[in-house]
Amino acid sequence: MKGVLVIMDGLGDLPHDKLNGMTPLEAAETPNLDFLATRGEMGYMDSVKPNFVPESDEAIVCIFGNDLISSTRGQLEARGAGLKLTRGDLALRVNFATIKGKEIIDRRAGRNLTTDEAEILSRALNEIKLPCKFEFVPTVQHRGVLVLRGGFSDDFSGNDLTYVKGKAENVSNIGNCKPFNDEDNARYTTNILNEFLEKAHEVLINHPVNRERREKGFLPANYLFVRGGGIEVPKLKQYKKWISITNMPLEMGFSHLSGMNVFELEYPRLKNFDAYENMHNALAKICKFSIKVIKKNLKSADYVYLHIKETDLPGHDNKPFEKKQMIEYVDKTLFKFLRRIAPPKEIKVVVTADHSTPCKMKAHSADPVPVLYYNNGEVPEVKQFSEKEARKGRLGRITGKALLKKVGFAK
Ligand code: ZN
Ligand code: ZN
Repeated sequence: MKGVLVIMDGLGDLPHDKLNGMTPLEAAETPNLDFLATRGEMGYMDSVKPNFVPESDEAIVCIFGNDLISSTRGQLEARGAGLKLTRGDLALRVNFATIKGKEIIDRRAGRNLTTDEAEILSRALNEIKLPCKFEFVPTVQHRGVLVLRGGFSDDFSGNDLTYVKGKAENVSNIGNCKPFNDEDNARYTTNILNEFLEKAHEVLINHPVNRERREKGFLPANYLFVRGGGIEVPKLKQYKKWISITNMPLEMGFSHLSGMNVFELEYPRLKNFDAYENMHNALAKICKFSIKVIKKNLKSADYVYLHIKETDLPGHDNKPFEKKQMIEYVDKTLFKFLRRIAPPKEIKVVVTADHSTPCKMKAHSADPVPVLYYNNGEVPEVKQFSEKEARKGRLGRITGKALLKKVGFAK
């Protein structure tokens, strides 16, 4: 094994009042990350390009050397969910959400929709009558994939206008899917999608699962948001000697389509409606699983792509303490292990994020993310892995597309 790339989703942040003006990464006790930072170089990265607010899929596609246009989220998620697609099938990422009238109450239905509930709701959704074949597949909690079978267009907007390429606008009302061009197929596609979304709302609003949720004081999952529609299986750069370790469908799909050997960990099912307890549990499992997989593949794999999803979520919920706690947990498990094996085995370690998710913004931002490149180098000065220190680092400011070449993980 030559190198390990750890992407901590949404790691980058901004100073927060509740952390005495520090970022979660700065405030976190991270002796092992600091050890790696001290014996390496740091820099900061625009994962897509400057002033662009990336979604996770856009960022990882670019970090692995692809052009932004070479992929769509729906296709990656569908591949991750194990769906077989043929050209023209339209795949979209879906969120269960909560609305009241036209107003968006919560884009993730309170983040505590259990996978069991989602499965029951999807059975009802799959009964909807449409003029085409379709499949709705729930993945993890509020997340799912919708596939319309047939020759569709992907030139249209989703129904949550917050997700406009490269910008973060916090839109408060639901929209319709709108075609980006005048062609019949784009209009036909959005008509079918809007019809599906309307019918889905009717199915969901009166569903017993949602009645029970309301009785428990939880937000009902009464609406669907679709985004990232794609009709072509993305052609991505191939990384044959890489292994990938992940617990989320997007990263699974991306890794499979990039030719990696994928080690998938099933996301723990949310059982008692405590989203954060479940997240900490998921984090513990992926760290443990990663250590095991890395140990087993030290001889057979050249590089590892390890994606830690959980660190993104507290940013969306403005929970800086939770984010700090998660960073500390990864430090004392995974990074403690990497600190121990990297020097004797001459393994290089890169730690970065796909984008910033500043707690106080509750959304992704265009702020560049910190990059740590451990190469068992000299010890020039005591360093801490943080956004601030990264900006002073020798690697300087780079784009996502330049990262793997810069650290020698790709040619
Ligand atoms: Zn992300
Ligand atoms: Zn996010």
